[in-house]
Amino acid sequence: MVLLGSTGSIGVNTLNIARRFNLGVEVLVAGRNIDLLNKQIAEFKPKVVVVANSEDIAKVNHSTVFAGESAILDAIEQSSSEVVVNALVGYLGLMPTLHSIKLGKRVALANKESLVVAGKFIDISKLTPIDSEHFALWYLVDNKEVDRLYITASGGAFRDWDIKKIENATFADALKHPNWSMGNKITIDSASMVNKLFELLEAKWLFNTDRIDAFIERKSLIHGLVEFKDGSTTAHLSRANMQLPIAYALRGKVEEQILEPLNLLEIGSLSFEEIKESKYPIWQIKKHLLSNSDMGVVLNAANEVAIDRFSKGEFGFFKMVDIILKSYAKFDDTKLDSIESIIEIDTEVRAFTKGLK
Ligand code: NDP
Repeated sequence: MVLLGSTGSIGVNTLNIARRFNLGVEVLVAGRNIDLLNKQIAEFKPKVVVVANSEDIAKVNHSTVFAGESAILDAIEQSSSEVVVNALVGYLGLMPTLHSIKLGKRVALANKESLVVAGKFIDISKLTPIDSEHFALWYLVDNKEVDRLYITASGGAFRDWDIKKIENATFADALKHPNWSMGNKITIDSASMVNKLFELLEAKWLFNTDRIDAFIERKSLIHGLVEFKDGSTTAHLSRANMQLPIAYALRGKVEEQILEPLNLLEIGSLSFEEIKESKYPIWQIKKHLLSNSDMGVVLNAANEVAIDRFSKGEFGFFKMVDIILKSYAKFDDTKLDSIESIIEIDTEVRAFTKGLK
């Protein structure tokens, strides 16, 4: 495989699956964590390595190392692997997804921003999503007549905080995910519920329906539910561990135990809660976003800039959300007709969001 983002949370889990099933790794792509990358190189012996910055090339223990975004595209193009695992974070992941599909490769896609921004232009049949919610839905749908799909949210870092206190919460506060550890950006997206909006939009592309919603399940043991036309509902339960969707994305069929089964008696109870706009103000755009999916590019660009400003301590948590909402409102008539239009709008939204007071 070609593995983009090998040193991140999904990247490391992907290599755990590669190790277990003895899967070959042809290309490793990482950002700045050269220490971990060097360990991965020693173990998986890739043919080619790409890092974010050229000044790091000398620190990488490999004879074929390149740097930068275009080197990622070149490495995909020159690889003989059929599968590209895209575990890059953010908009950076878009071009590698598009390029891999164009080259006829299959993409195991963790980089949800690719679908959020450009779902309209992506051939879904070439993708296998790496996300517990979409994996759960895929697991359940099983060619029956579906009426509605539901995904669950943990509620993020502030689910038990008073609204007054959330207003001024800091970046460090937002990084304290209640249930597990992931990369920084998705952890912030989880606290704001932007992550769940992203997943609803992804589900729209993947399952071709608007009849999809989300609610909070605090233990993060139910990941998705399907309501069938016959009135029955099924739920997918498993421990929250990305190795399950990754194993399916890489192997297609999985007959071995990947996760320890749940002990339902130990779990005892599960509860379901509405996602309230008072606590998660971003939720107010859910309906508009789902019926105007071109707005994914606006939400994503505004979100990336707002998170960056929030991480630098420019403002508190609710102000970050407010800035995203203001940018979203400003560009609410966005229509996409090509990949070039995505790039144009992305640039405009970023500039606008950077300037917002
Ligand atoms: P991380 O932040 O943990 O990892 C991101 C990876 O991208 C790292 O390997 C990082 O390298 C690399 N990277 C960043 N910038 C560059 C660059 N300029 N050039 C090359 N590589 C770069 O993120 P996650 O693993 O948490 O998430 C990855 C994607 O998967 C996101 O889109 C996320 O939403 C999605 N996802 C994550 C889940 C999770 O459980 N973590 C669940 C479902 C989806 P380095 O660290 O070396 O700088």
